[in-house]
Amino acid sequence: MTLTLDYVKAKSASRLSGLHPVVRQATERLIERSFASGVPILITQGLRSIAEQDALYAQGRSKPGKIVTNARGGYSNHNFGVAIDFCLLQPDGKSVSWTVGPAWMKVVEIAKSLGFEWGGDWKSFKDYPHFEMCFGLTTAQYRAGRQPTETAMAKALAKINKEDDSMTATEKAAFDKVVARVTELEAAAKRVPAPKWFVAEFGSGDLRGKISDPEFTLGEWRVLAVGLRVNE
Ligand SMILES: [Zn+2]
Repeated sequence: MTLTLDYVKAKSASRLSGLHPVVRQATERLIERSFASGVPILITQGLRSIAEQDALYAQGRSKPGKIVTNARGGYSNHNFGVAIDFCLLQPDGKSVSWTVGPAWMKVVEIAKSLGFEWGGDWKSFKDYPHFEMCFGLTTAQYRAGRQPTETAMAKALAKINKEDDSMTATEKAAFDKVVARVTELEAAAKRVPAPKWFVAEFGSGDLRGKISDPEFTLGEWRVLAVGLRVNE
């Protein structure tokens, strides 16, 4: 049988529910682009509950089987919907392959271009079927309830949609605007030493030793200057 993209996507659909929306979009692109490169894939894991993770951790430890993870519940990115596992779907549309060869590496290459980190690149405990997109947060931060920032998500989306040839001119223009805005936000969030105008007006960047670490965003420098002028 010849596999269609719809068939391949339907096979993985249930594993995509519960993923972070940006990670889900990246995973959909990964399935599509891998298919377009002649490599149909199957997503075998997405979101994993804490209980499921604990059960998996017990395997090879307090329960029979081979050790498959070093992460107990709450310590895997799967528990926060920002990680996926995959394998290759064979031409019969049913059997799968875990052989790490050229086809596997093609998928890895596409995943990385979408912004995923690959478990095969890890120094200890290489996890070849694993991809994750964590938006700069650690599992400790996720456990504490932190959520990805707007900027981190917009940046990830920019990467996911970068090579999308199917975008119309209008979509492309809207997309370029988002990218420009993200760049602007990043620049605004950057801490810098005192600007020239500040030093000129107040004599020094650290107010002659009154500020121990004089690095602020440009907005903060302006607010500080306003406050100093009021107090004069
Ligand atoms: Zn995984």
